[in-house]
Amino acid sequence: MPAPISENLHKKVADRLAFYQDLAIAPFYRNRRAEVAFQQEQPVQSAESAVHSTQIPHEEPTLPKTLRKPDLQKLAASAPPKIAPLPLPTAPAPSLFDASDKIADDTLLKIRADLGECTRCKLHKHRHTIVFGDGNPKAELVFVGEGPGADEDAQGLPFVGRAGKLLTQMIEAMGLQRKDVYICNVVKCRPPENRTPDEDEVGTCSPYLLRQLDVISPKVIVCLGAVAAKTLLKTNRGISQFRGQWLDFRSSKLMATYHPAYLLRNPNAKGEVWKDLQKVMAVLGLQAKKGKPA
Ligand code: URA
Repeated sequence: MPAPISENLHKKVADRLAFYQDLAIAPFYRNRRAEVAFQQEQPVQSAESAVHSTQIPHEEPTLPKTLRKPDLQKLAASAPPKIAPLPLPTAPAPSLFDASDKIADDTLLKIRADLGECTRCKLHKHRHTIVFGDGNPKAELVFVGEGPGADEDAQGLPFVGRAGKLLTQMIEAMGLQRKDVYICNVVKCRPPENRTPDEDEVGTCSPYLLRQLDVISPKVIVCLGAVAAKTLLKTNRGISQFRGQWLDFRSSKLMATYHPAYLLRNPNAKGEVWKDLQKVMAVLGLQAKKGKPA
């Protein structure tokens, strides 16, 4: 049992940690205990409770050795001063503007009609087909991707190429079929060379996605990849910092996971995604399909 530290010393430590907070290296100290537990493979906290606290960030810079202060580390571990954790992204509650922005009696058909033969952003110049979305308009589960690729642009349907085949396998492993869920994207026209959509393109197209989500009002939204997650959560934080955690989006629960195209390049990450999908299944009361997931 370590001896209690004096108020004066406690304040000094708190000041020093505030200084580290300003340098953006406070999580190194704050997560010391969690980090040790993680290295020893002890569970630190449930995903549910983790939503409201700071995670062990995958992308957090490590403190340069020259800056390490062993005494301070010990003190910080024995009596961590209370410093508010960096908030995880949550979609802001609708402002008055958003609320009045909601369209009464909106339907997917009306949204599609409003989109028309859209020329609102530069993506229209190279697209063949607008890929609006596909699936059950009353789905409890919606997958949101980034934007159509070549196959989707040719067929007018989301996720029908290689990444789409993997997504279909994932959906089936969850005990569902594609027709049970709704699948759509942040942008509805293919970005040339499958590049990431530009901010102005996302800004122009995402209001249609928001209307789709408002109309469907699913229990769960799964964001496939960083573009979808960042768009809905209005955050610039890296997806690995909040992937697999339950977050709120309007009246739905939101989970961000890796994009199937990323899984095609990094098959080792499939296990992480399967864990995320199992959390979704638990909320929706789904049983995994028998056999090994893809
Ligand atoms: N990638 C996406 O993000 N969406 C698609 O529809 C296809 C591939």
